[in-house]
Amino acid sequence: MSFCPESKEEMRLSRRSLLQWAVAVPAALAVSRVVAEVPFAEAAPAGPFKLPPLAYPYASLGPTISEMTMRIHHDKHHQAYVDKLNAAVAATPSLAGKSAQTLIQNLDAVPESVRTAVRNNGGGHVNHTMYWEIMNPKGGGAPKGDIAAAIRTNFGSFDNFVKKFDEAGEKRFGSGWVWLAMDKGKMKILSTPNQDNPLMMGMMPIFGNDVWEHAYYLTYQNRRGEYLKAWWHVVNWDAVNARLHYFAKNA
Ligand code: MN
Repeated sequence: MSFCPESKEEMRLSRRSLLQWAVAVPAALAVSRVVAEVPFAEAAPAGPFKLPPLAYPYASLGPTISEMTMRIHHDKHHQAYVDKLNAAVAATPSLAGKSAQTLIQNLDAVPESVRTAVRNNGGGHVNHTMYWEIMNPKGGGAPKGDIAAAIRTNFGSFDNFVKKFDEAGEKRFGSGWVWLAMDKGKMKILSTPNQDNPLMMGMMPIFGNDVWEHAYYLTYQNRRGEYLKAWWHVVNWDAVNARLHYFAKNA
């Protein structure tokens, strides 16, 4: 099974959509200077996949996210996704040499015997790598740069955007993620179940928050809304801008 002419066509379509979006949204983005040299999960090399180290100490996101939550979430949960993704790929020669992004963007090309494993664990690996990247102890505050302009254009204000994003995160029943994604040239907020990623639906994941209980339960117990609200204190807008620029260039 190959990875497949359709995906090239999809890539062309999404690049065109993104260009339309870039024209429609802030002029600033159209002239955006550089694609920052940061390690995106989506751009990571092919397997065997590795657990990326955190760029900050485990305790440094406190009190928003506790050291214990970070240790279990990163070292245990994310490691398990990496291990299970590697096992699925190792058992499936046609998947050798594919990046995690390619795998989850082309689930139809993944043999059925491992499709669910690749969906859950490939998604888990990509989602969590993004999550660690877009947080920082020096984060928080109002967004800046192109993402600030894009949020204003698409949602009216940052406050309104946060309200809608947190509502979508709170409404996700069970485990999942809440996202700001690009869909056919438009920015939208959506939530996904389990470890699904907007890439699986042909959308581009600008950034997202993990609303699995393992992301917040030790500190917030059942109060997901409090976690969602507090999380903005650790969002690293530089990293979010870098992702926006990456997808503008690599859609
Ligand atoms: Mn998680």
